[in-house]
Amino acid sequence: MPNLPEPQAFYVAVPLYEKFKLNNINYGDLLRIHFFQGPLDAYCPDCGRESVFSGLRELPSAIPKINNSVSVSPKSLEELLEHEMVMISEDGRTYSTVNLKEYALADKTIINRFVCSRDASHHFDFVLKNQNGLFQKIGQWPSIADLQKNDIKKYQKILGPEKSAEFTKAIGLSAHGIGIGSFVYLRRIFEDLIESAHKEASQEQGWSDETFYKSRMDEKILLLKDYLPSFLVENRVIYSILSIAVHGLTEQQCLENFEPVKLAIEIILDEKIEKQLKEEKESVARKALSAIKSQFSGR
Ligand SMILES: [Zn+2]
Repeated sequence: MPNLPEPQAFYVAVPLYEKFKLNNINYGDLLRIHFFQGPLDAYCPDCGRESVFSGLRELPSAIPKINNSVSVSPKSLEELLEHEMVMISEDGRTYSTVNLKEYALADKTIINRFVCSRDASHHFDFVLKNQNGLFQKIGQWPSIADLQKNDIKKYQKILGPEKSAEFTKAIGLSAHGIGIGSFVYLRRIFEDLIESAHKEASQEQGWSDETFYKSRMDEKILLLKDYLPSFLVENRVIYSILSIAVHGLTEQQCLENFEPVKLAIEIILDEKIEKQLKEEKESVARKALSAIKSQFSGR
């Protein structure tokens, strides 16, 4: 099982139901997530753009020394972590003193709210759960797919309508704890990148489809290296990860590996977008230059 992530990544990128093991060492990192006050950088669907959110959860009171009944209000989580005992209340009236570590690791369900810095009526809600030594996010609003809409929009043009719908599905499935299914969609997107490069390459003289179809995927990528983003060629192992994932990994392993594989695919798409922009600019410049040249050609 993976280590507990940073709070920012936990809230905006970790899929629901991905499990993290709790122990006597990582309880501080757990509290950093439980009591994260921000800044949380995320796309705000209500603003329609990126914004900064802050968490509303208040820290419990801390007890400076064992057997001391005077509590203090820590100003930050790091200050809270310097104490061994905290004072908590279930009902807001009666208080009990508990060990901070036991308090952090105890079974519980937490609802955390974050508000948008532009408008306090825009908010995110997250439901977190500690149970039997495991920690997971079991609910969130808006969904991860909604939070990542901005990213998806960026790739719509390069992917086309069909593949960008599949990219959205991959993100949505992983966000809901369906790991293997999400990898099937990522693999389809990857295969489509290869196929469009193949179509381009097959126009060239001397290209042999016979050799191409006989080759394994990593060999195909090398044959197409002039038509593919360099990151893909260098990291052609992605395809074997995608294939192994679909056939040989558990749901949990797929969920854990979804984010890095998605990131790799995004880098490949970024490179394609950049290349397209460069080609568009070059074509505009070429036309403009030849128009200038023809203006002067009579002189
Ligand atoms: Zn907002």
